[in-house]
Amino acid sequence: MPFPQLSACAAAPGVIRLVGHRGARGVLPENTIEGFEFALTSGLKLLELDVTATRDGVVVITHNHRLTRSMVRDATGHWLQGEEPKVSQLTYAELSEFDAGGLDGTTAYGQRFPDQSFMTGVAIPRLTDLLDLLRQREHQDVHLFLEIKSDPDLVQNSTARTALVEAVVAEVRAAHLEPRTILHSFDWTMLEDCQRIAPDMPTSFLTQLPENDDDIGEDSSKAVNPVEGCSAMDLPDRVAAAGGQLWCPYHLDVTEQSLARARELGLTTMVWTVNESDDIQRMITLGVDAICTDYPGRAQRLLLQQGLHWLPEAARSCVTTCA
Ligand code: MG
Repeated sequence: MPFPQLSACAAAPGVIRLVGHRGARGVLPENTIEGFEFALTSGLKLLELDVTATRDGVVVITHNHRLTRSMVRDATGHWLQGEEPKVSQLTYAELSEFDAGGLDGTTAYGQRFPDQSFMTGVAIPRLTDLLDLLRQREHQDVHLFLEIKSDPDLVQNSTARTALVEAVVAEVRAAHLEPRTILHSFDWTMLEDCQRIAPDMPTSFLTQLPENDDDIGEDSSKAVNPVEGCSAMDLPDRVAAAGGQLWCPYHLDVTEQSLARARELGLTTMVWTVNESDDIQRMITLGVDAICTDYPGRAQRLLLQQGLHWLPEAARSCVTTCA
């Protein structure tokens, strides 16, 4: 079945797509409406975000399962103390009391993003807040890599997993954004649910070989690593066998050979999270379809310097061509 969503992510002559990772984490607080608006204002047409649900079933945009003291302040403006609350154990009203508008620069995680703006009064958004933004006329051409986070405490709980997928899909459908949504996860069992529940949305399979450590200060991305024991060259075949349309490898895992194999299999390849200029350049040279980055500006500049762009000519507005 052809998926129209894929054309927005596929490379074309002179075009390598850019995806704003959690908005633009290097520049503005991650997974916030402010960050997504910045990425859109920068001319990006692809956004990546992470979702999970609160205790009362509200789908919210946040990466970690627990509110993390390096990036969340309480209602009094202080960094969290004591046990970090789990998002799934809070109501949305309780979650709304917290401020996700900045990083604590004394922490290892905060030190990874020294240029990120520090804002105050920024709530963790609901998925519907972002979907409402994207329904606006000027954002009709924006597509989403909607990453559904699987709860490591509930990895064997198929009821909870399916309920989360159903809740996410229902919200996407209510906003009529299914033609612009790609369902994205490290949890390949969850992606099977996605294929069954939302066969009209392509599934995007994240991979990271076990030899690459998780980034500092983040929850493990994977409750279960589906590519444990695989080699770099095995990955595209595994994704294709699982019925994926997109392969999203960690950028260090990609080789010329594995990328060629992905092309043979008809997969679209989006690499993450590529932040250093040398790494971005390597991905441009390899010719991936799309690059997910915390620093859209760096990637834009590198593309433009080489006569390339992140959008096909017909999709470029004056804002991007005149920049
Ligand atoms: Mg993500």
